[in-house]
Amino acid sequence: MTDFIDRVKKNINKGISTVSEKSSLMLETAKIKGQIAKLEDRRSRLFQDIGSSVYATYGSGSLDEWFVAEKCDEIKAVEQAITEKTEELQALTDGGKPEPVAKESPARCECGAELQPGARFCANCGKQLVE
Ligand SMILES: [Zn+2]
Repeated sequence: MTDFIDRVKKNINKGISTVSEKSSLMLETAKIKGQIAKLEDRRSRLFQDIGSSVYATYGSGSLDEWFVAEKCDEIKAVEQAITEKTEELQALTDGGKPEPVAKESPARCECGAELQPGARFCANCGKQLVE
């Protein structure tokens, strides 16, 4: 997984973005989205289980708290997994964007003025510049 992201990033840095890399990134993204959807389904089912358990015992005073606690723990685990998958997806889609190009800070004269590339004199103070 991490290897895959590294590979994608490297290729983007090199300016190479082949169709196969793009489609495997899309496949990977789709796969994770599918996993997230399944986890969300499972969470919904767990909520339903709790709901029907509470409903079935409502009024009888015999709510199975252990059952509910167990389901709640399971929901927590599912939510944790959803968070991890979402982060994984985020890392993938971030990797698909070109990285911002770091701007080199311009050369400056002793007076603090920015120097034009290739200038022989400072436009601000007139100081002669030695290469
Ligand atoms: Zn200057």
